[in-house]
Amino acid sequence: MKNNTILSDSLEELKKAAKMASLEKVYKILKKPDRVIEADLKLKTSKGEKTFLAFRSQYNNIRGPYKGGLRYHPGVTQDEVVSLSFWMSLKCAVTDLPYGGGKGGIKVDPRKLSLEELEKLTRKYTQAIAKYIGPQKDILAPDVYTNATVMSWIVSEYAKIIKDDKKALAVTTGKPLAMGGSQGREEATALGGVFVLEEILNNLNINKKGLKTIVQGFGNVGHIISEILYNQGFKITGLSDSKAEIFSQEGFTPQHIWEFKKKEGLVDGIYQKGSVCDHDEEKHEHFENNKILEQPCNILIPAALEKAITKDNAHKIKAKIILEMANGAITTEALEILKKKNIIVIPDILANAGGVIVSYFEWQQNLSDKYWPKEKINKKLKDKITKAAQEVLTLSKKYQTDLKTASYILALKKIKKSLDK
Ligand code: NAD
Repeated sequence: MKNNTILSDSLEELKKAAKMASLEKVYKILKKPDRVIEADLKLKTSKGEKTFLAFRSQYNNIRGPYKGGLRYHPGVTQDEVVSLSFWMSLKCAVTDLPYGGGKGGIKVDPRKLSLEELEKLTRKYTQAIAKYIGPQKDILAPDVYTNATVMSWIVSEYAKIIKDDKKALAVTTGKPLAMGGSQGREEATALGGVFVLEEILNNLNINKKGLKTIVQGFGNVGHIISEILYNQGFKITGLSDSKAEIFSQEGFTPQHIWEFKKKEGLVDGIYQKGSVCDHDEEKHEHFENNKILEQPCNILIPAALEKAITKDNAHKIKAKIILEMANGAITTEALEILKKKNIIVIPDILANAGGVIVSYFEWQQNLSDKYWPKEKINKKLKDKITKAAQEVLTLSKKYQTDLKTASYILALKKIKKSLDK
């Protein structure tokens, strides 16, 4: 674990927060994961037998069952999975969910497998970790390159193993609606981010109308958050995905770009298609190498992957507020630079917690076999995440510190409360 800069950086940040609030004892308990399960999954593919390295990290279950996503990506490492499970422990504590933190990953490029092979691999993964998971032990969810269909395969395999279809439902969240999924889960992360941003803006007495906003990563979270903010009067001046970056002082209509992206497969499709590009409303400049992050704006939203803002580009950031929707989008060194520039960073463990909050609602619905309408879910999401944002703001004032340190202090306090019970 020595080389894990993401985890060791985060632990350093946690240590600082613990010292500030005299919670060093809790910090010590959180220094290591409870358990990391590692497995070699052998799979017969059309190109012969292959072995895929897989992990499940169970960081801690002090506040309740382990909870966290499952990621399929060729870059998956044990360190990454452990760091993500560490953040999940803090995120669940910040939002006062009765969960600990977990995370899983398979080192695989899912686009290189057929649907059938992907299903087989998912079932093998479920078998490998079956004795460690369960509705009261460890609950999985979708993450990068996994989705509701992958969750339905896990539930089906787990049901076979425990011979109980009903109980098996709550072993994952983020399931298809027809299989016990929750209304509102798809937009929950983005909507939660908007509620948090609103609370911070209110606190700072900033009027949201016309605020220029750049969103890096126009995927699930990025496109939904852009659309909600646009509908609330924010001006979406920059958008990017892994292939292109577009910027316009006049602002974009995200719904329009999303429809185009779905058709063309990338944000730049709008540029390449002259007819739409020439549309008066959407004349724009074109950047590359993440220069979109450095353009002038009021709000910057990294919603792509980890390490978008590092010590190399932090000093070039011109935004006033950063809403960190992607986990670990800002490195520790970058955060220090941003602080010196008086840029307010709303940290990932608060900003993107909407997803796990609605996952918790899904789990509750599965356990009670009672299902709630979307209005109820969105209202409960707003109440829960706004309360967390208010608590973070209060602690940031009390300890005269940034919002990330305040979030860590809040998480430590909540974990201490459970330890003291
Ligand atoms: P996604 O795969 O739907 O979207 C990610 C987008 O980022 C894609 O459009 C991709 O093209 C783009 N991208 C990748 N590299 C990029 C780069 N260098 N520059 C610009 N864009 C780039 O994933 P998502 O579900 O929207 O998740 C986005 C982030 O939010 C992830 O970090 C994820 O861990 C985090 N998150 C998601 C949820 C959720 O509920 N989906 C919950 C919590 C956190």
